[in-house]
Amino acid sequence: MAEAGGAPRRVAVVGGGVAGLATALGLLDRAGEEGVELDVTVFEAAPVPGGNLRTLREGGWQLEWGPNGFLDNEPATLQLVERLGLSRVLQPSSDATRRRFLLRDGRLHEIPTAPGAFLRSGLISIPGKLRMAAEVLIPRKRDLGRAAEDPDTDETVAAFGTRRLGREFTEIMLDPMVKGIFGGEATRLSLAAAFPRMVELERDHGGLFRALVAISRERRARADAGPSGTLHSFVGGMQTLVEALAMELEADPRARLRTAAPVEALDPGGDGWHVRGPGLSEGPFHVVVDAAPAWAAAHHLEAVAPSVARELAAIPFAPMAVIALGFPRDRVEHDLEGFGLLIPGRERREVLGVLWTSSIFPGRAPEGHVLLRVMAGGAGNPGIMERDDGALVATALGELGPLLGIRGEPVLARVIRHERAIAQYEPGHLARLARVDRELEHLRGLVLTGSSYRGISVNACVREAGEVALRVIESLREA
Ligand SMILES: Cc1cc2nc3c(=O)[nH]c(=O)nc-3n(C[C@H](O)[C@H](O)[C@H](O)COP(=O)(O)OP(=O)(O)OC[C@H]3O[C@@H](n4cnc5c(N)ncnc54)[C@H](O)[C@@H]3O)c2cc1C
Repeated sequence: MAEAGGAPRRVAVVGGGVAGLATALGLLDRAGEEGVELDVTVFEAAPVPGGNLRTLREGGWQLEWGPNGFLDNEPATLQLVERLGLSRVLQPSSDATRRRFLLRDGRLHEIPTAPGAFLRSGLISIPGKLRMAAEVLIPRKRDLGRAAEDPDTDETVAAFGTRRLGREFTEIMLDPMVKGIFGGEATRLSLAAAFPRMVELERDHGGLFRALVAISRERRARADAGPSGTLHSFVGGMQTLVEALAMELEADPRARLRTAAPVEALDPGGDGWHVRGPGLSEGPFHVVVDAAPAWAAAHHLEAVAPSVARELAAIPFAPMAVIALGFPRDRVEHDLEGFGLLIPGRERREVLGVLWTSSIFPGRAPEGHVLLRVMAGGAGNPGIMERDDGALVATALGELGPLLGIRGEPVLARVIRHERAIAQYEPGHLARLARVDRELEHLRGLVLTGSSYRGISVNACVREAGEVALRVIESLREA
């Protein structure tokens, strides 16, 4: 591509969710360190930046629109928190959240964490436990780690679970975990794309129990093994993170954050990239980082890269309804001491799970009240999104009332609809990304990032933002 003009180097970031905002800040920081003169513009379709990270506050209640928190085992996120001066308002989840519950045969079971307690628990049958124990005898799969080159080797999460730990474990434990994280179906998600660590553990240790033993030995031997993953948020909720990112960008004379600026087309003109939308035509830019969700990127790449657009449009998204319910404490019989409850698909319920939000993070409900966050829908039940809010609240109450001993109507009921909540990394996802990468080699200066591709969590978005910023600044320095 031709030069975009003299210094400074210009970068456009499309999408002001956590991925786009963190990439923009990373670019400015790296440019400062490397002595690259930079000018960054973020284009965000919505009137406010932040994407899914949005915290609603009303009458003493604090609800999350999207993510509930992030685990403290990703150094990149902790560094970002520190960089933004947010360490003082970081809020760890309470100790009670170590208790997690599952529904089996209509009854709540606490998930045992110690091996002895697991053996005594009724969560998995005796034959199921024996099958799990046989995991040490299952040989390592031969074609691990080849999913990007050979999609036929791309195993689903359910196939992996059944192969190594048995069908019962997969249905009771893995299926609800996948619903809780991806709003997805274990039978339809690629292990290598959705849980790459599992592939590494099998490849490096030959099996999961062997891996567990090796990891705990290593943790004991190394005092610096780092945090194991405690859920964190901020006192003011997850929006704190994106607000601080946006403020940092707005305070930097090298950056511009344009809201209510939906991008409709990216055009690699002769002099560099141009960004176009309704009433919007900016450029040239040396680099465009597209951090919008894949379905949106597909739309604005249609003219310039139809084959990439087709690949991106084929990444499915699961819908999700988040139903926030608040009650006076004495209307809920269950002690709610814990993280919440997940519900396996074989229980044939419509609720995927419920987080006991006010137990996880203090300060989310007014004094003397509790806040529950119910998830419904997901890839396995998209039709539920057609119901109106009243019907969704009634479904949640009807299913959870008897389980948690809820009496009466909620004093707070809010339904948050995510029509395209979370990207589903189906088998073939990594091969698709490899094809897209090959196509992008012909479109110099275009980079895709965000939760649609290589990790759906806030942590994955922030980690990748740092990597992308580094790569882009290096390419600009060399250009
Ligand atoms: C209900 C729910 C619960 C979740 N829970 C957790 C959790 O507990 N922990 C966790 O780590 N993750 C969780 N996630 C995932 C987490 O929300 C995502 O990882 C993260 O928000 C994705 O950030 P992103 O920037 O990639 O995308 P988004 O947040 O979707 O941001 C993309 C941005 O691009 C903008 N955009 C779209 N089209 C255009 C366009 N044409 N032009 C310009 N801008 C455009 C959008 O308006 C949006 O602001 C959850 C997600 C959902 C939906």
